[in-house]
Amino acid sequence: MRISDFSKKKERLLKIKKEDLIDLPYPYNRRDLEPDIQGLTEDQLKTFDSSLDGISALGIRMPKDRKEEEEIVRKFINGLQKLLTPENNWTFLMPLYHSLEYCVRCQLCNDHCPVYIASGKKEIYRPTLRGEILRRLVERYVKKRSSVVLKLSGCDLELNWQTIARLGELAYRCTLCRRCAMACPLGVDNGLISREIRKLLSQELGLAPKELHELGTVQQLKVGSSTGITPKALKNIIEFIESDIEEKLGKKIKIPVDKEGAEVLLIHNAGEYLSWPENVEAFAIIFDLANIDWTLSSDLMGYDAVNYGLWYDDIQFARIAIRHIEVAKKLKVKKINVGECGHAHKALVVVADRVLTGDMNIPRESALPLLRDLIVKGKLKVDPKKNNFPVTLHDPCNVVRLMGIVEPQREILRRICPDFREMEPHGIHNYCCGGGSGFAIIQSMNFPSWRSSVSGRMKLKQILEVFQDVISPDVKKYVCAPCSNCKGQLRDLFNSFKTNELCGIFYGGIAELIVNALEDLKKPFIEWEWH
Ligand code: SF4
Ligand code: SF4
Repeated sequence: MRISDFSKKKERLLKIKKEDLIDLPYPYNRRDLEPDIQGLTEDQLKTFDSSLDGISALGIRMPKDRKEEEEIVRKFINGLQKLLTPENNWTFLMPLYHSLEYCVRCQLCNDHCPVYIASGKKEIYRPTLRGEILRRLVERYVKKRSSVVLKLSGCDLELNWQTIARLGELAYRCTLCRRCAMACPLGVDNGLISREIRKLLSQELGLAPKELHELGTVQQLKVGSSTGITPKALKNIIEFIESDIEEKLGKKIKIPVDKEGAEVLLIHNAGEYLSWPENVEAFAIIFDLANIDWTLSSDLMGYDAVNYGLWYDDIQFARIAIRHIEVAKKLKVKKINVGECGHAHKALVVVADRVLTGDMNIPRESALPLLRDLIVKGKLKVDPKKNNFPVTLHDPCNVVRLMGIVEPQREILRRICPDFREMEPHGIHNYCCGGGSGFAIIQSMNFPSWRSSVSGRMKLKQILEVFQDVISPDVKKYVCAPCSNCKGQLRDLFNSFKTNELCGIFYGGIAELIVNALEDLKKPFIEWEWH
């Protein structure tokens, strides 16, 4: 494949097959045990562009006529210019500029990309490719170099609808895990380049996966949560959670909601309330036992730490970040603690600094160091023998590589899990679960199949390797993933490979492991039910 192929109206650039992918350990050394990568249906092929690699995350439709194509190209160039001006790119101009200008094409970053490695090193997934295309387009259409200079420098890539469609899909073959950025000696961030391409497509062309936009940020701003949970529905769920806690614990716990002046406002990813309520229960039990002055919020968006704007659109991002702070200010809490959700950490604790100035900049922290302190300072009586099963730890990219929160979760697991084992590599060198940057919720057409087979492959490989000595399905094993999105991806990944049936591998959060180890708990908190 050559970069100039990107603008050619021809067959797809890559046909990816499972035989091409990197090998997996036992039992998937038998290729027939792994799922095929699904193709699009005949109807989908006629309607949507899949000329990159046969996969569609965005559902891009062909333009109706020449006039529409010209309009799309004009808007794209307009967006490209905006990306490079301070008044329009108030979030990431400098790191984007740096990443476009200073790459020396040494290609050292490539072998650090889980997608590129897992794919069997397919050129199209090389981390530097998106940047190289964008750079060439900037030279030609923004800096307007002469045709001689463009020809000599190889920057004469034509911008047409086909180029835009392929580049758009390519921006959604990168999980923004930033493993490549860590490997780059010049600090070039190819993940950021993917993110900025997504931003251009969303803000100028209205192109974004519906799970991130309509069902994500738009729904969250309208009803209070990207899950569709309204403030009223939340109250019902909390009542259910309280009665479930009573059943498991043998005692009633009143979950504080909208308590003014509390020390801590805890915000979960609202996906927990629907899919993993045991995580919400575990936090409530821990905070109650440790006498923490805390509250949840039932205010619009105060109960959903999700901010999918982080992955594709600055405007949507800012709207949600500001709303989170308004909720905290109204309750007059001292600080916000983000529950087990990696992207919410990045959104609210880190990137929101670009928006939250002055008295909006109230303290925002991860819940993981708080949980570590409770264990280390002996605020909770635990008996590690209760967690007498093999446990490994998945490092969510946004908590660990981005924020450097590496040790607190390990300190907890070393104290409460006698058979805690590290995957290799781990910590800041971890591999993404494959569901980062919103991938975990994108259900468009055949994208989930690609996500399991390709972007999640390195994580699956690591998990199988760390449990090889106990791989029999008769031995129950726990992948601790302290992130709601990572859990969503692991659920889909394990389902598609039948990892639970074939290998006995479960997943869950860290708060559940803490509660499972509590000395006074009469029966196990972890129920090993697949969901
Ligand atoms: S991004 Fe960094 S590591 Fe990769 S090719 Fe460019 S300079 Fe080299
Ligand atoms: S951010 Fe992650 S997925 Fe994206 S190119 Fe870099 S290493 Fe690959």
